[in-house]
Amino acid sequence: MPNSTNIKAAVGKRRLFLSMQKVFDFFSQELTYLKGVGPAKAAAMAQEGLRTYGDLLDYFPFRYIDKSNFIHISQIKDDKSFVVLKGKIIDVKEIGAGRNKRLTAVLKDETGIIDLIWFSGIKYISTKVRLNKWYSIFGKPVRYFNDFNITHPEIEEIDPSQTNTAGQELLQPVYSLSEKMKKSGLTIRSMAAITKNLLLQAERLIPETLPLNIIHDHKLMPREEAYRQIHHPSSLQEMNKASRRLKFEELFLLQMIVQLEKQKKQQQQGHIFDKVGDFFLKFYNNNLPFELTGAQKRVIKEIRSNTKTGFQMNRLLQGDVGSGKTMVALMTMLIACDNNYQACLMVPTEILARQHFTSISKMLKGLDVNVAILTGSTLLSERRTLLPALKDGQINILIGTHALLEDKVEFNNLGLVVIDEQHRFGVAQRARLWKKNNIPPHVLVMTATPIPRTLGMTLYGDLEISVIDELPLGRKEVKTVQSTDAERLKLFGFIKREIAKGRQAYIVYPLIQESEKFDLKDLMDGYKSIERSFPAPDYNISIVHGKMKSDTKDYEMQRFKKGETQIMVSTTVIEVGVDVPNATVMVIENSERFGLSQLHQLRGRVGRGGEQSYCILMTKDNLSKDARERIETMVSTTDGFKIAEVDMRLRGPGNIQGTQQSGMPKLKIADIVEDEELMHIAKASAIAVLKEDPHLEMTKNFTLRKELNEKKHGEFWAKIS
Ligand code: ADP
Ligand code: MG
Repeated sequence: MPNSTNIKAAVGKRRLFLSMQKVFDFFSQELTYLKGVGPAKAAAMAQEGLRTYGDLLDYFPFRYIDKSNFIHISQIKDDKSFVVLKGKIIDVKEIGAGRNKRLTAVLKDETGIIDLIWFSGIKYISTKVRLNKWYSIFGKPVRYFNDFNITHPEIEEIDPSQTNTAGQELLQPVYSLSEKMKKSGLTIRSMAAITKNLLLQAERLIPETLPLNIIHDHKLMPREEAYRQIHHPSSLQEMNKASRRLKFEELFLLQMIVQLEKQKKQQQQGHIFDKVGDFFLKFYNNNLPFELTGAQKRVIKEIRSNTKTGFQMNRLLQGDVGSGKTMVALMTMLIACDNNYQACLMVPTEILARQHFTSISKMLKGLDVNVAILTGSTLLSERRTLLPALKDGQINILIGTHALLEDKVEFNNLGLVVIDEQHRFGVAQRARLWKKNNIPPHVLVMTATPIPRTLGMTLYGDLEISVIDELPLGRKEVKTVQSTDAERLKLFGFIKREIAKGRQAYIVYPLIQESEKFDLKDLMDGYKSIERSFPAPDYNISIVHGKMKSDTKDYEMQRFKKGETQIMVSTTVIEVGVDVPNATVMVIENSERFGLSQLHQLRGRVGRGGEQSYCILMTKDNLSKDARERIETMVSTTDGFKIAEVDMRLRGPGNIQGTQQSGMPKLKIADIVEDEELMHIAKASAIAVLKEDPHLEMTKNFTLRKELNEKKHGEFWAKIS
């Protein structure tokens, strides 16, 4: 027999269930059914991703019109901004006929008069606009000869004797409207009316998602109120509170997802690398070509202690171009070998794979380590011996490109995966390597693309992070200058003097995919003119571009690397990772066409030895504002971190290299640059929640857990790292 408490609980549950059902139905209702929308408007909205009530609630205004901020007619300026006026209608008339028919009204205040004009909806407006009544007017004045007029202003009758506007909405929301939405008849005003009506219907249906203690600790506005205030604020202050609440929620949920993922990764069983054996020690004592930097040593220690715990390592190694990440990768691979595991190193380009293969093979001379290379151009006959040897475990270290991902590439016991320039690979691609073993291998991803901290907290928040924050001793900062065609002779003279000192130079041309043919012509023309200025037999020139066969490319690279050629003319195929320490000059043609991170990568090809190096940014004379800022940034700093910050400011976080592939979710209200502080708070809260309740089983976290489960199925979740 159920006792009375049980019955109460059962009834309570049922009620909860019913109301949840209602909530669910409400938010997934189609906008067509909302008052003021209708099929045509709904179709236009759907094109912007606005299909349901829930979508519209999340469609936040991007600004507000402050209707309390009246100006005088005489104060109107020619700056195309919206204004709010207050005055009396002193004339109304309809003029023209048919398609030329329009309604004009004259508004007068103490300082002047202005024409208001309507071309459509005349019948309705003419009932609203009445002679000698007072109105507040909102619209965008345009100049017409010496006067201004306003077409289709928003207009509201007011009582001139009342100075205070109590009861009226002073901050009117402005939603972004696509052309299609405007054509369907949606206006700033009607959108505001629609959301107002929606919020009226949503009364008491917008559930709280954050645990109450968090709301309390961070003094957050309750969710339902925040939705009301963000759409229709009662004051600027309330609007700011609402915005803070919604931003916090977005960042907090994001950090919850990241931290949950991190927690999952940290608990993943992994191989145990508990030995440091012959390979590592012999290499360290006999083969190491230079003293490691303090940062390299520290990072190797971090990796060692991470790989001996029995849990899988998921580590990001960040270090600016030239900081010596390859050496860390190599020594980590040797630790894997010492523990009887295989290791692989995946890189984004064939040139880079060959370069790593050559230099690593050379560095491992005298050690009994079997290194192999596999790329798209590895011949079938070579594969026939390579693949079985890999499966047998005879190959210790495999270096390669995307080709490593193929199903046919099977390892005997893959213990470590290193991915160089990881931003060049998509998440899914990287994940395919994990699956090449029953117990997933340890993973070390390396990047030279410094990204702003807040972005890093999101993109790589689920990874452990190591940083090489120190360049090898004796490096000199690359000197960077901007130059134009007028100074080309001087430039060539300079290059000749560097070559006379025994140095080498790169001359790089942009290659933009859509116009490859055209670019290739640029490159070939450039090559010819360089050949004329640097004639054989005094000078030898290499040329490398993406359309070349890989063995020709390799041959040219090797000639340059060996010093047989003094000038390397190329497209951006040499952008990542290429290492020729004797090169001291980097000339970038049409540098205004490159993005900042690319320029930084290219410049990183020089300044790798002890000699003073130079980067010359060739530009045309007239630069756009953005291009000028990019070039000035490059000239003024070599700090990759600062460059990344500028890059993000200029392009927005969504376009930063690697963000798209990394599955960074689109944020609806928070801004990854501006809301850095809130992101830190959100991260700390997420960590605290999981520390107390790792599986979100406590009652207070019930709604949070539900919310996260829903997000998981939506696009918000995406695939982080
Ligand atoms: P990146 O971090 O850009 O991949 P690399 O690993 O290619 O940098 O290293 C850049 C250059 O610095 C290489 O020529 C490498 O041999 C050299 N190098 C790396 N570590 C040191 C060190 N500790 N001392 C001196 N030179 C180093
Ligand atoms: Mg590198």
